[in-house]
Amino acid sequence: MNPDGTLHMARRLFWSAFTGWQAFREPSLPYWPPERLAALQSRRLRRIVHYAYDTFPYYRDLFDREHLRPEQIRCADDLRKLPIVEADALCHAPDSFVSQRYRAGSGAMLMSSGVSGNSKLVHWDTAALCRILASKHRYREVLARFVGKTFGYREMSVSNPENVAIALRAFYEANTWVPRSVDYERSRALSTSSFDEILEQIDAYRPDHLGGYGATLGALYRYAHEHGTPFYRPLLITYGASNLPEQDRVLLEERYNIPVVSSYQASEFLRIAYQCELRQSFHVCIDQVAFRVVDDDGVDVRPGEQGRIILTNLVNHGTVLLNYALGDLVILGEGPCACGRTLPTIRAIVGRAFDLLVLPGGQRTHMDGLIKGFAYRRHLVQWQMEQYTLYRYTVRVVPDSQVDWDTLATALALHLRQMIHPEAVIAIERLEYIPVGRSGKFKACISHLS
Ligand SMILES: [Zn+2]
Repeated sequence: MNPDGTLHMARRLFWSAFTGWQAFREPSLPYWPPERLAALQSRRLRRIVHYAYDTFPYYRDLFDREHLRPEQIRCADDLRKLPIVEADALCHAPDSFVSQRYRAGSGAMLMSSGVSGNSKLVHWDTAALCRILASKHRYREVLARFVGKTFGYREMSVSNPENVAIALRAFYEANTWVPRSVDYERSRALSTSSFDEILEQIDAYRPDHLGGYGATLGALYRYAHEHGTPFYRPLLITYGASNLPEQDRVLLEERYNIPVVSSYQASEFLRIAYQCELRQSFHVCIDQVAFRVVDDDGVDVRPGEQGRIILTNLVNHGTVLLNYALGDLVILGEGPCACGRTLPTIRAIVGRAFDLLVLPGGQRTHMDGLIKGFAYRRHLVQWQMEQYTLYRYTVRVVPDSQVDWDTLATALALHLRQMIHPEAVIAIERLEYIPVGRSGKFKACISHLS
């Protein structure tokens, strides 16, 4: 073997051993006493804050402007002393957030999927990615309750070609060894294909576990249901990123008996939170992120209230993000979860702020919220709402075959005017199929305001 080959092998051995070491405490970590979790979080926070101050002119300036020393940030609560960093700052000057000590090429570069033109390049160091790989166990433990085993099942994802999971997979294959016996068989369908093509691919592969974007998978099964297309039923569906409309979740779980589990991630933080088997809330991985939920003035909201999530990445030494506003609205959890895990919770992910509609009163909402209570809702196979101004909207609708279109369109325009504003101008368009955007994600809401 040539020296490069030996070096590469040694590197893989080292990082596999590191990942194995990190994985050692995984089974118990989500159930640790809260003080022990907080101690681990604080230790990691102090390390990353010192690192940020020592190696980033951006953070050093930020601390100096606030007359703060890194020693004054000792635990997650102390992050309130620091100003919030808006996501735009990372879009416009990504290099300001990459450490001078970080060597490009030593880890992986992940590109967020670029919805609304907000694509961001995020550098991840190898140790952080190995910690994240080890922590996958906590989500796998939940999925195993539904699939019946922890390893060796068949998995398929419906995703776009630039999906972060695919870039990560390539990184792990080059840098670690996952024994065949504990790996999963995987396949992938492109979310930009037609629904008929995707259904055929799922039927041919017959996965135990199917994953993808919530809105895409919801629309896919709604389409199969309405058209009477026979489809293969996986044991479990999981989704992240975009929302699964509530009526699609009911269709999957209650009509077809397929359980649905969701997780919450972003390329800046990778997995932020995940649903447990009770699926009442999302457990936040506070060993990897510090988080709080604030209102528009930056003040913490109370449990059960909605606000912006502010996150600090505790493990990544590539792109370092402290007090970062990811752009998502979430509802803060209330009290401990009955599953016994002590990782704190957020009750729901409302959505990306720029995927929400802005109502004339200033509230931000999702189309799903607007059509709650609409009398003909069960006749809507798929829908999409595009907002141009506070008062002007286009709604694209795929109706089922049982409803009279004129009646449906008139009732929908009336209902939306009642929900939005009596003077709102709402154009309703009938379509056979609503295509996904260039990002491969189906978007139920497009607002040109937020
Ligand atoms: Zn739980």
